[in-house]
This record gives sequence, C-alpha cells and structure tokens, in this order.
Amino acid sequence: MPELPDVEIARRRLKKTLVGATIRRAHSDDRRVLRPGSPRAFGRALVGRTVRDVGRRGKWLRIVLDDGSRLFSHLGMSGWWVAVEIDSPRRPSERARIDVARKNGRAASIRYLDGRRFGRLIVARDDIEEWGALGPDPFLDGIDRTRLAKSFARRRTAVKSLLMDQEVLAGIGNILATEALWRARIDPRSPSSSLSRSEVGALARAIEATIRQELVARGSADEDAWEDAFSVYGRAGAPCPRCGTTIQRTIVGGRTTAFCRRCQTLSTGARRS
Ligand SMILES: [Zn+2]
Repeated sequence: MPELPDVEIARRRLKKTLVGATIRRAHSDDRRVLRPGSPRAFGRALVGRTVRDVGRRGKWLRIVLDDGSRLFSHLGMSGWWVAVEIDSPRRPSERARIDVARKNGRAASIRYLDGRRFGRLIVARDDIEEWGALGPDPFLDGIDRTRLAKSFARRRTAVKSLLMDQEVLAGIGNILATEALWRARIDPRSPSSSLSRSEVGALARAIEATIRQELVARGSADEDAWEDAFSVYGRAGAPCPRCGTTIQRTIVGGRTTAFCRRCQTLSTGARRS
C-alpha cells in the first residue's frame, strides 16, 4: 500500500513529465476511481491546460493547472502512475490516461494503474476538503516535537494507531509506523499518552530516518530490493535484526503489526518524564 515515500517518488516522476507540458487528451471511464466526478468532467477540466506544478501532501498528489484548477490523486491500496510512450497499449489495470505535448515538443503519456480501484482521481477548482484536513507532512514540514507530544498526550489510543491518523501526521501508513516504532524501540501497543518526551523525540527521529531510508531505496532499486529493506514489517517469525529475538505478529487498531517483544518497550507512563 503506497505511503509517503512511494507517493513522493510518484510525484517526482510525474513532475519530470508534466510540468510545462500541455494536456492533449485526458481519458478515464472508471466511475469508481473518479468518484464523485464523471468521465466527461475529467476530460473537460484537463484538455488544453498546461501543468504548472505537481505537489504532494501526505498520501495525496496535487497537479495544478494554468487556470488554477487541480487534479488530486490518491493511490489507495494499489494505485501507481507510469510514464509510457504515447502509443503504448492500454493495460488491464489502467484506469486513466493523460497525453501531453512536452515543452520540447515531444509527446508523452502517463497512465494511472490501479488493480484494486481504491484510488481516487478528483478534478476541482480549488483544494478539496481531504487535502485541507491533512496534518503536517513529516518530509515537507519536519516533525514539530512539541505538537506531536501534545497530540499524544490528549489520547490513550495505541501509539501506532495515532501515528497512522492523517490529521496527526500526514503520509504515515502501516509500513512507516511499524518500522519507525521498531527503530525507536517503542511497543506499538503503548498508549500514546504514556510516552515520555524523550520517547516522542526518539520516535520523531525514527520516522524521519525511516522516510529518508525508504526514499533512497525506492528511488534507486526495484520493488523486491525495497521489500528487503524492511526491518520488521512483514517479517513476523524471522529474527529481529537488532537482538535476534523472533519477531511477533499482533493486531493494533485492526491492522496487522510486527514488533520485537524484547527490544520494543511497552510504555505505561510509569517512566514518564
Ligand atoms: Zn529485537
């Protein structure tokens, strides 16, 4: 499932192809991905427009056009953008295509692929509500330790569930949360309000380091190599890379979680500083 590093890589690729290019054709007939829009509105909003910018916040992409209107893209569970040759045939999972004339005069085509169709494509005159509701993006904005500590102190939710709340920090999903908590040596089930200031600091550093590491791995390698980069995510039953203890599987907030019982401490508030 795409998280901040994946969506950031998608943004960089789209930016290379799209910025300064003029849209010649825009087509999607997938009403589920386009919800609440329509195929007709999708084409009408995009064709003839020049792309000014490709941005990202959390797991959302925002393509800004020369008339100020925007195309928002959320990759859902399995969405991905690819740049292909203009005459490249339609693939089975292709949900949308946008053909452009680039600044250098060459034609290019980007395709939105999404096998499971949980992704979204929304054209709008202005920013959409989902975009406006997002909390700080740890890669764009950094992590404000004081603000994060305040968000944690207000709730007794498991720290992992709160990390995945897009209004607390935008862009963190199951993978980043699992990896960062392991790196910070915090048990994912710890109530958020029991974390000390130093634990919040360690967690913030762990999130930043995990994002940097995944961006490097994701930007340079194929997907198999990237999977191998995980320390605990998807590795239940394997030895912890730090202490060798078998990695456990549990459920936190309805999501499967891997963690090391030995080197990730369950914070109870007893050590609160
Ligand atoms: Zn361990």
